[in-house]
Amino acid sequence: MYLKSIELYGFKSFAHKMKFEFHNGITGIVGPNGSGKSNVADAVRWVLGEQSAKQLRGASMQDVIFAGTEARKPLSYAYVALTMDNSDHVLPVDYEEVTIARRVYRSGESEYLLNGTPCRLKDVSELFYDTGVGKEGYSIIGQGQIEKILSGKPEDRRELFDEAVGIVKYKKRKAASVKK
Ligand code: ATP
Ligand code: MG
Repeated sequence: MYLKSIELYGFKSFAHKMKFEFHNGITGIVGPNGSGKSNVADAVRWVLGEQSAKQLRGASMQDVIFAGTEARKPLSYAYVALTMDNSDHVLPVDYEEVTIARRVYRSGESEYLLNGTPCRLKDVSELFYDTGVGKEGYSIIGQGQIEKILSGKPEDRRELFDEAVGIVKYKKRKAASVKK
């Protein structure tokens, strides 16, 4: 499984519709300060279900919507779509390609889509359990996160190992059935 493309529209500084295509290998994103490099990583976190505005370097969840510049009016919604190559079926679905999308309007209304079909945040989270990719996975290492892992509580560090060995889905299912 690898990240094939990211499509953005109205997300932070991406006022124009924009598509990044990646290949199975290493890609670097370079550019001057303030050009939007970190915004690309924020977009990935956001579409995977990030619920914290602070994690996305904003004050409110609506701050991800393009706020306008002198030359361009603000936009009414933000949209990000992430396409994963799933030909090795690491994601537990039949599709060779999986697209996860999220849209949020200024009104606060929002939706997630899985290959174009509306779904719940829970479906997105479950899809990525134990793959290292999800919002709480280790595939995005933010600034200061290494330090947090090294000096963190053993319980918190344990979560990373759970994800790596692939037992998160069982733990979540157990917790859900105990609650019932
Ligand atoms: P650095 O090299 O300093 O880390 P960077 O390339 O990572 O820079 P980002 O932090 O990704 O830059 O982008 C910051 C830019 O995004 C700022 O110019 C900011 O004004 C713009 N920006 C963030 N949110 C919005 C928004 N909602 N609408 C319009 N522009 C936005
Ligand atoms: Mg940056």
